Amino acid sequence: MERTNWAGNYVYRARTVHRPWSLDQVREIVAAAPRIRVVGSAHSFTDIGDSEELLSLDGLPADVVVDRSARTVSFGAGLRYGTLAEALRAEGVALANLASLPHISVGGAIATATHGSGDGNRTLAGSVAALELVTSDGAIISSARGDADFDGRVVGLGALGAVTRVTLDIEPPYEIRQRVFEGLRWEMLTEHFDEITACGYSVSVFTLWGDQVDQVWVKRRVTEAPETVRGDLHGARAATVDRHPILGLDPVNCTRQLGLAGPWSDRLPHFRLGFTPSNGEEIQSEYLVARRHAVSAIDALRGLGPMLGPLLQVSEIRTIAADRLWMSPQYGQDTVGFHFTWRPDQEAVERVLTEVEAALSPFAARPHWGKLFLAGAESIAPLYERVGDFAALVARTDPRGAFRNDWLEARVLGA
Ligand SMILES: Cc1cc2nc3c(=O)[nH]c(=O)nc-3n(C[C@H](O)[C@H](O)[C@H](O)COP(=O)(O)OP(=O)(O)OC[C@H]3O[C@@H](n4cnc5c(N)ncnc54)[C@H](O)[C@@H]3O)c2cc1C
Repeated sequence: MERTNWAGNYVYRARTVHRPWSLDQVREIVAAAPRIRVVGSAHSFTDIGDSEELLSLDGLPADVVVDRSARTVSFGAGLRYGTLAEALRAEGVALANLASLPHISVGGAIATATHGSGDGNRTLAGSVAALELVTSDGAIISSARGDADFDGRVVGLGALGAVTRVTLDIEPPYEIRQRVFEGLRWEMLTEHFDEITACGYSVSVFTLWGDQVDQVWVKRRVTEAPETVRGDLHGARAATVDRHPILGLDPVNCTRQLGLAGPWSDRLPHFRLGFTPSNGEEIQSEYLVARRHAVSAIDALRGLGPMLGPLLQVSEIRTIAADRLWMSPQYGQDTVGFHFTWRPDQEAVERVLTEVEAALSPFAARPHWGKLFLAGAESIAPLYERVGDFAALVARTDPRGAFRNDWLEARVLGA
């Protein structure tokens, strides 16, 4: 049977999928494979994770170990965030942030700089304190924050080897209240952009680029202080029933709203773990621009509104804090992400992406590595100050090129 990614818009060409259950097996498989890639939960939208052979790590022991004095947790990298969160809740500790859904593997999320939202929140890769990597000669590299090359290894795009174990920062558990505001006017968003994204710990703006913004999802940490944002957000009204980010859809699979306090892991994602967020009938793209360009980029995309609307299920605007990870779109800059959940018509999406990429090019937009984009290495490489260091690291770590694939040549190294 054909193996596809989660959305079904990409069919893997690999015919062999290894599913080892020990680290030694991983080392043997990798050392013997001419060309191989790790497959996580296959939530990426392109050939980024394809090769002649695939390696799934979900058979390795999860082995979740909390180190309270170091304030970290270590575990097998094939684990999904939702499963990790359940283990952490049982231990009485928490992560700083999560993406929109808990179904993705930690190894795959950090390899592509997957992010949630929040002015002060870095990508999920920003919480990596250490990792263990099996390289193409079967050797193991252990690398921790502060080590030489660590900042190049975390957002590794799958190009350096198989990340078998990850150590993440943890913190004391906290609760979140989520409220949705409806009917925000564009002028309010652009005039008060900084205030709006700062009004919660994690804020997401949902729109179809029509006459108004549609929804603002505000996730605030529960503290002693009274809630300041309740009934009205710059003219947008607080929803009185739970909402789905896609207008008109049943919110049954969404995390609870209406200001009901709940644990971090049940509020930070938009979608609940026990439910599939949708049936996969979608394609996603996202572009990250320096935060100082937020309002100009919004204006540029609004100009494309009539073209975007018919193909869109929804678009999400989020903010993400700067980091120092070489291949992170957040490298050296606070960013704003413009995400698009498209209807599953790849040809039409690619036609529209030509216009989106042209409209965002004055802002040096960096595409999300795990989503669909058109730009090639010749235009992407100049956006990454450390791309030369990354290419050298790939060559040093994987001299026989076992983890190189077509995507990596076309999008990153081929410039
Ligand atoms: C419904 C949906 C919602 C999403 N929401 C968000 C969101 O909120 N925010 C966001 O930023 N992104 C989001 N994404 C994108 C998603 O987070 C990324 O595509 C991410 O890479 C998916 O992880 P994965 O495990 O499925 O990776 P895969 O697609 O399996 O792999 C991605 C890349 O990572 C590599 N890789 C995977 N595991 C390892 C490992 N252990 N060692 C080395 N390399 C590895 C693969 O080789 C491949 O190159 C979403 C995607 C979907 C489908």
